[in-house]
Amino acid sequence: MAQLSDDCFAFSGPMMSVDEAVGLITTRVNAIADLETVALVEADGRVLARDVAAPLPLPPFTNSAVDGYAVRNADLPQRDAQAFPLDGRIQAGGLAQAPVKPGHTVRIFTGAPMPPDAETVFMQEDVRIDEAGKIVLPPGLKPGANVRPAGEDIPQGSIALRAGQRLLPQHVALAAAFGLTSLDVVRRIRVAVFSTGDELASPGAPRAASQLFDSNRFMLMAMLRRLGCAVSDLGILRDEQASLANGLKRVAGAHDLILTTGGVSTGEEDHVKAAVESIGSLVLWRMAIKPGRPVAMGIIEGTPLIGLPGNPVASFVTFVHVVRPTVLALAGSLPEPLTPIPLRAAFTYKKKAGRREYVRVSLRRGEDGALETVKFPREGAGLLSSLVETDGLVELGEGITGVEPGQSVGFLSFAGLL
Ligand code: AMP
Ligand code: MG
Repeated sequence: MAQLSDDCFAFSGPMMSVDEAVGLITTRVNAIADLETVALVEADGRVLARDVAAPLPLPPFTNSAVDGYAVRNADLPQRDAQAFPLDGRIQAGGLAQAPVKPGHTVRIFTGAPMPPDAETVFMQEDVRIDEAGKIVLPPGLKPGANVRPAGEDIPQGSIALRAGQRLLPQHVALAAAFGLTSLDVVRRIRVAVFSTGDELASPGAPRAASQLFDSNRFMLMAMLRRLGCAVSDLGILRDEQASLANGLKRVAGAHDLILTTGGVSTGEEDHVKAAVESIGSLVLWRMAIKPGRPVAMGIIEGTPLIGLPGNPVASFVTFVHVVRPTVLALAGSLPEPLTPIPLRAAFTYKKKAGRREYVRVSLRRGEDGALETVKFPREGAGLLSSLVETDGLVELGEGITGVEPGQSVGFLSFAGLL
């Protein structure tokens, strides 16, 4: 397990910027060293544990990039079109029997190996066949045109995939192109998830009139799974210090991270802080982020704990900035900074300098056809509809004090957050 010291997340400043938070996490969390070997079909989304050097060049042999006719460079027509007698045919998967004869051309198809001595291919669309059945090739084609040399994509022996890469379908494709059947990946990060609050009922359980169904736990578990974690659903803890402490202590040893939602404000019924302090240590991070409020960071028996706020939107946004980098750091993943895409704002917004704000927005086409961001009409951090009916978040940096329509703003798509 992670095994961190008790004061590992202590922070002396009054307010922590988002960048400071991410920096504190990524420098303090130790990467899990346990590996496992997974079949390629299971590798998507996992974190690669070792570099992969190309065991063969890609493409593995020099081949034609088009359907057409192959010739020697020495025979390329210079000023006038020239008729060539046909000397054989090579299809994809076939092999040339002999070198192409001087002054001849070979019929060849996309992906077929180039015959020895042939260096250039004419596209079939650019040639014509004369009455005698000869192939008339036009002048002016560049030597080597329409040929894919062995290793032009990836030379043999080069590092093609880096340890720490979170695998996407294209990385899996590359491993398959090398003929690999499995990859060594970091084992899944084990995360225990709790909700806290007497007002919560689990979907499927009876709901008292003063209760609402727990939605955050399902959102957070889904987000964690998208990050490749193995998630333990530990249900709802009541707002009571002893049962909170028992619940947390029970899971600490067997998980790499404990995630809770709710109960981390400083209200009388916010018991997570006291519960964690009775069995480990905890600091409240006051992050300069909206929506957000405090995020709790703690250690229980060497296992890190993150306590997210209860309001669904605050929980979502702080997950992205605190939990995501923690999970990536635990998995030894290469840094994946979120990169906002500049888009036009179609809204007005006022904000305080000194904190970062995230505005829920939808995308639409403006009258000139350009994409623009439209702010969700309401702002409450409890509005789940504001996450469901929008496409992403506009990030407004610490220095910004407002947005006017037409201004360029940075857009983060929900699709790119996990
Ligand atoms: P708290 O952070 O515990 O003060 O909660 C803030 C608000 O978020 C309250 O209105 C809670 O009812 C709500 N809330 C807390 N936990 C959840 C949850 N798991 N699902 C949905 N809403 C929640
Ligand atoms: Mg609460």
